[in-house]
Amino acid sequence: MAYNCPRCSNNVSRNYNAQAQAKSGLVGLFFFAAFGVFNCEKCGKIPRKEFSSEVQIKMAMGTLLLVIIVVVIIFGLIMLITK
Ligand SMILES: [Zn+2]
Repeated sequence: MAYNCPRCSNNVSRNYNAQAQAKSGLVGLFFFAAFGVFNCEKCGKIPRKEFSSEVQIKMAMGTLLLVIIVVVIIFGLIMLITK
């Protein structure tokens, strides 16, 4: 999902660190998705509260989706282990 900067309307990207993410795996991915900072090329880091409430709702929905995916994966693993 791409969002626009509330200050200059450039594209912003989540401040992913691919290397750290590879090390921390799924938990890291979840952490970054839930708490990751957004980064604008011009303005630098953008706090979530600066985005419009519409965008914040979209972000919350994306996070919720991720939580569901993570829960399903963990549940699936538990089912596999306990079989
Ligand atoms: Zn900007």
